Amino acid sequence: MSATETTKYYFQRASKELGIESQLEKVLITPRREVKVECIIELDSGEMATYTGFRVQHDSARGPMKGGLRYHPEVDPDEVNSLASLMTWKTAVVNIPYGGAKGGISCDPGQLSHQELQKITRAFVDEIHDVIGPQLDIPAPDMGSNAQTMAWIVDQFSKYHGWTPAVVTGKPLELGGSEGREAATGQGVFYAIEALMKDEGRALSDLRFAIQGFGNVGSYAAKFISQAGGKIVAISDAGGAIYSKDGIDIESLMLHTQSAGTICGYEGAEAMKRDQLLTVDCDVLIPAALGGVLTREVASEIKAKYIIEAANGPTTPEADEYFIKKGIILLPDIFVNAGGVVVSYFEWVQNIQQFRWNLKRVNEELKTIMLDAYSEIVQTAKTTNCDLRTAAFQLAISRVARATALRGLENESFCMIR
Ligand code: GLU
Repeated sequence: MSATETTKYYFQRASKELGIESQLEKVLITPRREVKVECIIELDSGEMATYTGFRVQHDSARGPMKGGLRYHPEVDPDEVNSLASLMTWKTAVVNIPYGGAKGGISCDPGQLSHQELQKITRAFVDEIHDVIGPQLDIPAPDMGSNAQTMAWIVDQFSKYHGWTPAVVTGKPLELGGSEGREAATGQGVFYAIEALMKDEGRALSDLRFAIQGFGNVGSYAAKFISQAGGKIVAISDAGGAIYSKDGIDIESLMLHTQSAGTICGYEGAEAMKRDQLLTVDCDVLIPAALGGVLTREVASEIKAKYIIEAANGPTTPEADEYFIKKGIILLPDIFVNAGGVVVSYFEWVQNIQQFRWNLKRVNEELKTIMLDAYSEIVQTAKTTNCDLRTAAFQLAISRVARATALRGLENESFCMIR
């Protein structure tokens, strides 16, 4: 099943539960605009090269569209479409005033110089600057892009439209970025885990965690979990995996990756095969890398009792059904990794108000939003007797459908929505 079909499957499972009819379903699932552009640049070697860029604007019923910009060789229309749709449900489930969008450029940032990446980014902005903006569509970092990428976007966009820091979020602090934005997704993952384990009556210090991915999300999640006493027994990245039954020292691993660029070669833990990570003996499994990794095959080998989806779209529908049947508790991506876009929202608010918040305020507000969303998801799951993903989608879909109806696209089935 493709990434788009997977998202559609989860959407339809919840929309059926809500009793939404097919016409309305189509309105809610179909993206409003799909843009494909070529970013043509001169490489450092003097050769010309072209990279395909995408921006999919999925829904704007609840506010300007919002979502990251991914730089990765596997970026394609299917992936971007699915991720754009997930952004609509993500912003709705945590109830921030945005729609959903996603973009990406098919390139390998590891193989490109700083100058080349800058040129690709500026070429992309040249092509799409008319369809993004602070009240229209606000990009942010995602896999393979970062605060520097956002700085180039602000600069290039501002050449066309005047100084506009609120056109993107996840910027460097010097250009109107927010305190806490870099760590926000990992921080949100931590708040989600804290809320779940409180409900389950489990202390973090009694749990063993395995994390797939040690990029922005995985590394900060690992840091906050270990600071709270959780034992991280296994971690993987694109290069390999490491294991320590007594728990990995995250601070020292972070220092190692800063210089080595990978977790491989870290001396404080044993090396392990990368594909063993998902099925390692642990209590909590956190996929924090690419989509589609938890397949039905992998699912039956998983030892964890809890799965926390820090990545976007890590679980295939077959694996998801298996987890439900086996009573494995899964917190879904649209809730778990929403911390990034929530603090993006705070950054955008600060840009518009031209008033800075401190880290304490950012994290307190983030925690409140994550805990409120958690309670609403759990409540919905109880009242409609469904799993947590279906509950999160139900909450999100009903919010978007209501906003759509209130804005004038009304028919009987819109009015039926809770
Ligand atoms: N790329 C992040 C995500 O997938 C953040 C998006 C944003 O801040 O707009 O949620």
